[in-house]
Amino acid sequence: MNKTVEKTVLSKMKKYLITTCRNVPFAELTTLGVGGTINIAVYPDTVCKLVKTIRLLNKLNVRYCVVGKGSNILASDEFYDGVAVVNKVSKITVRGRKVTALSGTSTVTLGKFLADKGLDGGEFFACLPASVGGAVICNAGCFGQDVASAVTSVKVLHKGRIRTLSAKKCKFSKRNSLFKNNGEYTVISAKFRFKKSTKKYVSDRIAEMRSKKAQTQPLNYRSAGSVLYHDRATVSKLTDQVGLKGFTVGRAQVSTKHAGFVVNIDKATSQDIYLVIKHIKDTLNQTYGISPKVEVCLINFTQEQYDILTKR
Ligand SMILES: Cc1cc2nc3c(=O)[nH]c(=O)nc-3n(C[C@H](O)[C@H](O)[C@H](O)COP(=O)(O)OP(=O)(O)OC[C@H]3O[C@@H](n4cnc5c(N)ncnc54)[C@H](O)[C@@H]3O)c2cc1C
Repeated sequence: MNKTVEKTVLSKMKKYLITTCRNVPFAELTTLGVGGTINIAVYPDTVCKLVKTIRLLNKLNVRYCVVGKGSNILASDEFYDGVAVVNKVSKITVRGRKVTALSGTSTVTLGKFLADKGLDGGEFFACLPASVGGAVICNAGCFGQDVASAVTSVKVLHKGRIRTLSAKKCKFSKRNSLFKNNGEYTVISAKFRFKKSTKKYVSDRIAEMRSKKAQTQPLNYRSAGSVLYHDRATVSKLTDQVGLKGFTVGRAQVSTKHAGFVVNIDKATSQDIYLVIKHIKDTLNQTYGISPKVEVCLINFTQEQYDILTKR
């Protein structure tokens, strides 16, 4: 980013009353705790500020990425000479069984809200360390529920215009959507429809799901959850079968508790994580002839590194 553009971004952010921070490590914004330094991080906390920020960055042709809770991001170790738009836009509204959440809302907060209202079908939200926007992008889910099973429409900023897309238009599929790895869309909010139930039923389901996760997942380590997925095969099961639990590069490791997770044991680099994912992918390909897709979103890798992990 040249100095003039940098100055323009910072002065506009000041004018819009948006908090900015220089030289923020990706490690601080992501659950994996790895990644290089970001030139500028900005923290819009209203829809208006979020929209103004994205429009400005597009107009100035500045490289940027939106960060929700950073629980599905692997950023490279290199300096990110762009802007990270850290989404702080948070609010939930309800009308009967219909709930609207702004994209920066924590999914845990949404899950608790649903329990409080006795609305059933979104218990999984309480089990994700995510934002609503990130969950929509990744069609996140677990225990048979996902975003696609509850969402009715998504409001996005696309090429400068605010549009509302029906769930069908969002092209949700397993851990994927029209928006994933497609920098053209910023998710502003999502509308959901749930089933009427009771507070006790929903709270009990959430407690049960959370307890299952705690028993089976390495929640004491930094990770991005499962890093690979396949439309038909269970990647964690095959990774375990092929003996990769505990496989380590540097300070990154295939979790010994859940083979779908790659964990940052302590002070791993992004490259360590990348190489572990690549090794799992290559091994499953050679052993079972399957090509799992990368679930974690790669930021600031070279085209070659990106292609190696995503195109095979
Ligand atoms: C311990 C652990 C357990 C997990 N368990 C599960 C699980 O059970 N099921 C599951 O599906 N996932 C799981 N995950 C992965 C992760 O929580 C989900 O993928 C989640 O949806 C990511 O949301 P986020 O807000 O953290 O997104 P981020 O990681 O911040 O972003 C993910 C991608 O979306 C983009 N993005 C984020 N917000 C926006 C926006 N508003 N507009 C445009 N682009 C945006 C980012 O640029 C990035 O490309 C787990 C992760 C961890 C660490």
